[in-house]
Amino acid sequence: ESDIFIRRQPRGSALGTAATDVLAGGATSSWQIADPQPVWLDHGAGGHIWDVDGNEYVDLHGGYGAGIAGHAHPAIVAAVTEQVSRGTHFAQPTEDALWVARSLAQRYDLPLWRFANSGTEATMDAVHLMRAVTGRDMIIKVEGCYHGHHDSVQVSVSPDLDEAGPAHRPESVPSSTGIPTAITELTRIVGFNDLDAVRRILDENPGQVAGMIVEPVMMNAGIITPEPGYLAGLRDTLHSAGALLTFDEVKTGFTAGPGGATARFGVRPDIICLAKSLGGGLSTAAIGGTSDVMSAIADGIYEQVGTFNGNPLAMAAARANVYQVLDDSAYRHLADLAAHASAAITDVIAAHGLAWHVKSVGAKGCVIFSPTPVTDYREFLQLDDRWGQLHWLIQHNGGVFLPPWGKVEQWLLSVAHTHADVDRLVTNFERLAVIAEE
Ligand code: PMP
Repeated sequence: ESDIFIRRQPRGSALGTAATDVLAGGATSSWQIADPQPVWLDHGAGGHIWDVDGNEYVDLHGGYGAGIAGHAHPAIVAAVTEQVSRGTHFAQPTEDALWVARSLAQRYDLPLWRFANSGTEATMDAVHLMRAVTGRDMIIKVEGCYHGHHDSVQVSVSPDLDEAGPAHRPESVPSSTGIPTAITELTRIVGFNDLDAVRRILDENPGQVAGMIVEPVMMNAGIITPEPGYLAGLRDTLHSAGALLTFDEVKTGFTAGPGGATARFGVRPDIICLAKSLGGGLSTAAIGGTSDVMSAIADGIYEQVGTFNGNPLAMAAARANVYQVLDDSAYRHLADLAAHASAAITDVIAAHGLAWHVKSVGAKGCVIFSPTPVTDYREFLQLDDRWGQLHWLIQHNGGVFLPPWGKVEQWLLSVAHTHADVDRLVTNFERLAVIAEE
């Protein structure tokens, strides 16, 4: 399949080779470097994209989960086109920002919002805010959750489970070179769905923990859902210790439902981070909070800043996205497509007698290459990733573009996708199933 992949993309290969002269590693982000080579894209329309060699794909990569609106949605094109000729940057608020914030307040049940430019910035502000509000330095984070590439959250456990320490007392390590342990030591690691570990850290460090940041559904480890009572338990446990709870909804925001995982699971945290699917394809992010938390910003205790915060082009796109694209009928359509994908792939798995299953939350889904549900990061690490990588190649060569990290990432359905697009995903998946059955 790797050979087919390369043969289909001669111009992409040539660009990839030329790129290594001027782009470090031949791509614009380290997570664009796929095996066997990065995919060089030319354009997108609706639910489809075309590479520089003219190959067409159903786009279920969705720009790493940012593409719930699909490509060039007419409402977003109109909004951006109007704004682009009226000025693309002022570093002053425009009316669109007010409308976007109103929608977020209503969808996520938190009253006050600020904007930033990426998920990384949003979670960085959230961590700063938790510290600013409580006057404490320590934070709690879940092993295997990804919150962006700033120092405080670039900490997890070794993917080698022999070195990860016991599940109830993980041995934390920086997730990347360049991240000082002096900073990551302030971040205490727990397992997902392990409320007792959070209680223990709070008990052992009285008055020191500012709060916890968590993906309410883990989405950088396939898809791992919270056990009943876990999210509410986190909120109550943290609050009783004077600490705060942040939901990183960068992946779940707008995709788990109109009000993200917060509305879906009915647990309101103190702070919510949004990015990816907020901007209708433009880069923007948001941080929402309770009045108590956000008063730290309003009162100037914490300065939440950024030259491009609330950028007019991004706000125009986000406004069109949240008011015109992501309406009730859009969520009905997404739910239909998601049900179709889950049911059809589940049928293929059963027909071929495979020990796999489908996991889906809202518009996102993935195949878990294991018969049993995965409930934490350690179980996820033990999944055999060969099938994930082969699945990616087979889907790609069959005209479906998925995120390239095997078992880590998931597909994202967009409002522009059709049942025929889902059929293509299923047909390609059947090719994998045939190979796996042999
Ligand atoms: N939080 C989560 C849950 C994410 O998945 C990501 C990106 N994959 C981020 C934060 C960081 O977002 P960005 O890449 O926009 O900085």
